[in-house]
Parts: sequence; structure tokens; C-alpha cells
Amino acid sequence: MGASCLRINPGNIGNNQRILDVIKAAKNNNCSIRIGVNAGSLDKRLLEKYKEPCPEALVESAMQNVKLLEDNDFFNFKISVKSSDIFLTVKAYKQLSEVCNYPLHLGVTEAGGLLTGSIKSSIGIGKLLMEGIGDTIRVSLSSDPEDEVKAGYEILKSLGIRSRGVNIISCPSCARQAFPVIETVRLLEKKLAHIKKPISLSIIGCVVNGPGEAAQTEIGLTGGGQDNNLLYLSGVPHTKVPSSEIIDKVVKLVEKKIKD
Ligand code: SF4
Repeated sequence: MGASCLRINPGNIGNNQRILDVIKAAKNNNCSIRIGVNAGSLDKRLLEKYKEPCPEALVESAMQNVKLLEDNDFFNFKISVKSSDIFLTVKAYKQLSEVCNYPLHLGVTEAGGLLTGSIKSSIGIGKLLMEGIGDTIRVSLSSDPEDEVKAGYEILKSLGIRSRGVNIISCPSCARQAFPVIETVRLLEKKLAHIKKPISLSIIGCVVNGPGEAAQTEIGLTGGGQDNNLLYLSGVPHTKVPSSEIIDKVVKLVEKKIKD
């Protein structure tokens, strides 16, 4: 079956002949290439020139390889200039986007564990995407690869670039909530994970923000306590729901709504 894309790291692939061999093989197999510059394995000559990894060094390394690919009539490639430092990453991508028009693959490399890495990646990748820079992304986490895909998807969803599935708006921990919002959202995320159609859902613990959020979402729930929690459809009050039936009622309503 082969591969549809391969990555070369200019910092450790060795002499140019090796890159030429890769280009030849990629051409023969209709395979695209990612020029993947990494601050942690920068070309020795560039490290000597710049003394430490910096945006200019990352960009120069990428552009040297771009030239090599262009000189060999190979244009089926994208570029990344990753670092584990988000400031360095963002500056490098910005500089790169100013000197070339090739597709850019974004990522903060070796970002860390699930929580830390997701936050770093959201800031780095998110900032660039918000400025219109970047064409593909990867979230690098010391975690299950599935978590990388989920985190990447959430970044795209937050920016309105992808909208598949249920987008839940919900309260943090708060003394005013009339039902256990955190546990409810945790269970709803699980039970609604199969839904692909975009739909917005607000799960709000009390009337302070409940009706307002329900007005902005397709399905809303506002906590009222015991039997007085209120479900909304398109911002309009629909039915009262006892706390013990919230999960079932919301799941049924979401499933019905996506079929309409
Ligand atoms: S909407 Fe109500 S429950 Fe939710 S965070 Fe605000 S005050 Fe707390």
C-alpha cells in the first residue's frame, strides 16, 4: 500500500544526495513530502551560524530544502518548523509564511502530557490559525494518539473551522448549580460521541445564564432543581425535566433533532 506522505528532517537526513534519493522515490510513488524542521534537531551548520535555535534558523533550514525540492521539479510538499516552545514556533511559522506560499503543517512539538500539551498546542496552533496561517495540524502529546486527534479536532471546532458533532456549552463548578453539571456533561459527551451532525447544546446550572445560553443554542437545559429543570428547543421553553431524567431526555432530544 505504501505511504501517501513522508517526512524529511533537514537537520538529520545527512547530505543532499539522500534528499535527492527520497525525492526520486517520492516521485515514482506519487508520494508527498513534508519538510519537517525541528528546533531540537537543527542542522549543525545553522546552529553554528545562529548559536541557538531561533526563528531565522528554522526558516533558513526549511528554505534550503524547499530550494532543493524546487530544483528537482518536486512541488508536492508542505513545510513545518516546529519547536517545543510556543513563542519560537509561532515566530518561525509567521516568518515562513512571509517568504513562501507553500502549505504549512502546524504543530508545537513534544508539547507534553494530555493537559499541558493540549493547552500549549491550542495556544500555538490556535494563534497561527486565527491569523490565517496553516493548512494542516498535528497535536503532539505524550498520550494516546486518539487524544491527539481529539485535541486537534477541538482546536478546529473552537475556531469554527470544523463543526462536526455536538458542541456543548456548560458551566464550571459553581455553588448555584441546581444539578451536577460536571458529571452530566461528562456522561453526555460519552453518550453523544456518535453524533456527527453539527448541533449546539447548552447545559447550564441555573437561571443566571441558562435562558441566555439556551437562546444561542439549538437545545438548552437550565437548572431549576428537582422537577423544575427546563429544556429549551431553539431558545423556546420545551419541557420540564426532573434531575434524575436529564441525561435520557437530553440524549433523546438531540437524537430526534438531528433526524428532523
Ligand atoms: S449559570 Fe448559574 S450555575 Fe452556571 S456558572 Fe453561572 S451562576 Fe453558576
